[in-house]
Amino acid sequence: MLDYFGLEADLGEEERLLVASAREFVDGEVEDVGQHWLDGTFPTDLVPKMGEMGFYAPNLDGYGLPNVSEKAYGLLMQELEACDSGLRSMASVQGALVMYPIHAFGSDEQKEEWLPKLGTGEAVGCFGLTEPEHGSNPSAMETRAERAGGHAGDEYVLNGSKTWITNSPIADVAVVWAKDHSEDGDPVRGFLVETDRDGVTTNEIDDKLSLRASVTGEISLQNVRIPKENRLPGVEGMKGPLSCLTQARFGIAWGAVGAARDCFETAREYATEREQFGKPIGGFQLQQEKLAEMATQITLAQLLAHRLADLKERGEMRPQHVSMAKRNNVRMAREQSRVAREMLGGNGITTDYSPMRHLTNMETVYTYEGTHDIHTLILGEDLTGIPAYE
Ligand SMILES: Cc1cc2nc3c(=O)[nH]c(=O)nc-3n(C[C@H](O)[C@H](O)[C@H](O)COP(=O)(O)OP(=O)(O)OC[C@H]3O[C@@H](n4cnc5c(N)ncnc54)[C@H](O)[C@@H]3O)c2cc1C
Repeated sequence: MLDYFGLEADLGEEERLLVASAREFVDGEVEDVGQHWLDGTFPTDLVPKMGEMGFYAPNLDGYGLPNVSEKAYGLLMQELEACDSGLRSMASVQGALVMYPIHAFGSDEQKEEWLPKLGTGEAVGCFGLTEPEHGSNPSAMETRAERAGGHAGDEYVLNGSKTWITNSPIADVAVVWAKDHSEDGDPVRGFLVETDRDGVTTNEIDDKLSLRASVTGEISLQNVRIPKENRLPGVEGMKGPLSCLTQARFGIAWGAVGAARDCFETAREYATEREQFGKPIGGFQLQQEKLAEMATQITLAQLLAHRLADLKERGEMRPQHVSMAKRNNVRMAREQSRVAREMLGGNGITTDYSPMRHLTNMETVYTYEGTHDIHTLILGEDLTGIPAYE
C-alpha cells in the first residue's frame, strides 16, 4: 500500500489495529462490490456486520461506542473508501450525520433510545437536509415544522420534501432539518422522524450513474406528526446541520485518499504485468510519469489528512480546514482515478478493475457535502473576509 512518507510508522496501537481490522473486513466480508455497483444495490448484510466491527461513529464516547482517536476514525474511512465510496458513505451517514447530532444535540432519552442500536447497525439512520430546490443553499429550506395546538402542544407537524438522501429507503429514523414556524424567526431545528410514521414516504432514486453501491432516496413529509420530544433540544439554526457536515467532510477528506490509493495500486500492478511492444507498460516513461504524479498527489493528500486529524484531536480544527482538505483530496481522487483508468486501457472501463468505479463515484463525492465550488467560496471568504456566495 502506498505510504511513501512512512506515515503508518507513526500510528499508535489502536490506529494500527483499526486499519488492520478494516482491511481484513473489506477483503473478507465484502463480496464483489463491483457486482453490487452494477446492480445498483448496497450489500445490506454488511450493515450489522459493520456495526459489530464498531465502524459507526467509533470516535464518539459512551453508549457502547469505542471513542477511538480522530486519526483512527479517518484511517477507517480511508480503508472503507478504498473498497467503495458506497461503503464509506454508509458509515459516514450513520456515524457523522445521524449519531453525531444525536450525541451532540440530543436529549438523554434520544441518546439512550438511538445511539446503541445505531451503533450496532440494528437501526439505520439518514440525514435529510437537501431539498429539490435547495442544495448548495440549504438555509433557504422550505420544510416546515409547526407545533400542533400552539406553544403548549405536545406534537410537531412536519411538511416538506428532501431529496438525494443516502439510505432514506432503508432507514428506520431520519434526522430532518426544518424551519420551526412556531417560533419567532423560524429557526432551523433538527427532528428525529421514524420512517414508519404516517405521512412519511422514502422513494428510491434508482437512475444514478455514480455511487451505485449505495441506496439514495427522497423523504416526503405530509402532515407527519411527531411528539415534541423528537426535536433535538441542543441546537438551533444552521450551525446544527453544518456542524454535522464538518464531521462527515472530515471523513470524506480521508476516504477520498483511500479511493485514490486503490486506483494507484491497481494501476501500478497492471503496469508491471501488462506487456506491449515486448515489455511491461510500466517500463515506458509515459506510464512512469503517471505513476510518479499519482503517488505524489496521493502522498500530499495523505499529509493533509493526517494534519487535519491532529488539529481535530487538539480541538484546533476549523471548518475551513475541513473545506480545504475535502476540496483538495476529492479533486485529487477524481483526477487520479481517471489517470489510473487510462493506464488500464480497454480493461479499465470494466468492473473487473476498480478505477472506473471509483472515478464515477467521485462525481458524487465531488458534489455532496458541499460541492467543490462551495468549498472554494468558503475558502475565498476565509482568505479575504468577503463572502461571494450571492
Ligand atoms: C448520491 C448522493 C447522495 C447524497 N446524500 C445526501 C444526504 O444523505 N443528505 C443530504 O441532505 N444531501 C445529500 N446529497 C445532496 C448533496 O449534498 C447536494 O447534491 C449538493 O449539496 C449540491 O446541491 P444540488 O445538487 O442541489 O446542486 P446545486 O446547489 O443546484 O448546484 C449546481 C451547481 O451550481 C454550483 N453552485 C451553486 N451555488 C453556487 C454559487 N453560489 N457560486 C458558484 N457556483 C454555485 C454548484 O457548485 C454546482 O456545480 C447527496 C447527493 C448525491 C448525489
